[in-house]
Amino acid sequence: MRDFVYNANPGRVVFGSGTLSRLPGEVERLNLTRVLVVATPEQEADAHRIAGMIGARAAAVFAGARMHTPTEVTAKAMEVVAAERIDGLVAVGGGSTTGLAKALAMRTDLPQIVAPTTYAGSEMTPILGETENGRKVTRSDPRILPEVVIYDVDLTLTLPVAMSVTSGMNAVAHAVEALYAREANPIVSMMAERAIAALAAALPAIHARPDDREARSEALFGAWLCGVCLGSVGMALHHKICHTLGGTYDLPHAETHTAVLPHAIAYNAAHAPDAMEALKRALSTQDPAGAAFDLAQGLGATMALERLGLPERAMDEVPDLVLASPYWNPAPLEREPLRRLVSAAHAGRHPA
Ligand code: NAD
Repeated sequence: MRDFVYNANPGRVVFGSGTLSRLPGEVERLNLTRVLVVATPEQEADAHRIAGMIGARAAAVFAGARMHTPTEVTAKAMEVVAAERIDGLVAVGGGSTTGLAKALAMRTDLPQIVAPTTYAGSEMTPILGETENGRKVTRSDPRILPEVVIYDVDLTLTLPVAMSVTSGMNAVAHAVEALYAREANPIVSMMAERAIAALAAALPAIHARPDDREARSEALFGAWLCGVCLGSVGMALHHKICHTLGGTYDLPHAETHTAVLPHAIAYNAAHAPDAMEALKRALSTQDPAGAAFDLAQGLGATMALERLGLPERAMDEVPDLVLASPYWNPAPLEREPLRRLVSAAHAGRHPA
């Protein structure tokens, strides 16, 4: 075995079905007396129900979280934090909601309890991406990492099937890139392989029966591990392209990850043999890129970025943007192969 460094992020995880009922106990455990519950406008009713569960220790609800964590939303929430003398944060929702709690924690160092309702994995990372004046800035800081994560399978039962599929593929992408990361190590690779296998088995079952608790549980467990992968090692070309597509063309997060992933795997395949062996095992295939494409497409995902709104000019622009500030990547980053990758994902072609 070769030498390696493994960075573990601290944090407490409660996992199961009905575990949200443990929230009041977790609030008490952290000695919080004036909690702010954050959510998206779509999940406002849930946020009020959860504040009701917390009782007298819940001081306010802020249901204004939005995709890509705009700083003007954070500024409004900061006013509530000050006015209500908030001493702790509870986030119940997907990556957008977690993003708002993290943005508040970065500014205040308030403790966070996060109950994820998608498979994005943000709750496991000390990373925050914020948007200001249309520009997304990503930073990493120990204050950003949530103190407690409550995974409650029941919260994911309402996640629509199409979002479950793309959110699940978003999670798979974290694990795939962890397998060939510069900092790849046996601990993270073990989690990544287990997570990919879990999601590859669970997503078709959820597609067939969205209220299948066993499959939902397996998917959430996989998503947790994928989040650990994302928070433990650096990401590569796939995440670079997806951040570029999200930031420059405002493409939807999980759907974009889903359409790009098979092409990123194909791009790196020849330069990441160990990762490809792990992917072959996890996906029970000899062709990981093709299998990732078939899995997502078979479950109804949109595989053509064109249909997500990516303009034709992106085929020339994206390679330039990627090369202007590249992430480390196992395969060399070169303009023509990058152009072919974006072109294939734009058209939704099966990866060669
Ligand atoms: P999201 O949080 O934007 O949720 C999408 C929509 O689905 C919202 O309207 C939400 O209210 C709704 N929703 C969520 N869970 C639901 C459920 N169980 N039932 C019904 N509706 C539900 O989507 P996302 O993909 O989870 O998060 C994307 C955001 O997270 C992006 O901004 C991305 O950059 C960020 N992200 C950050 C990290 C990180 O480590 N910093 C990691 C992954 C994603």
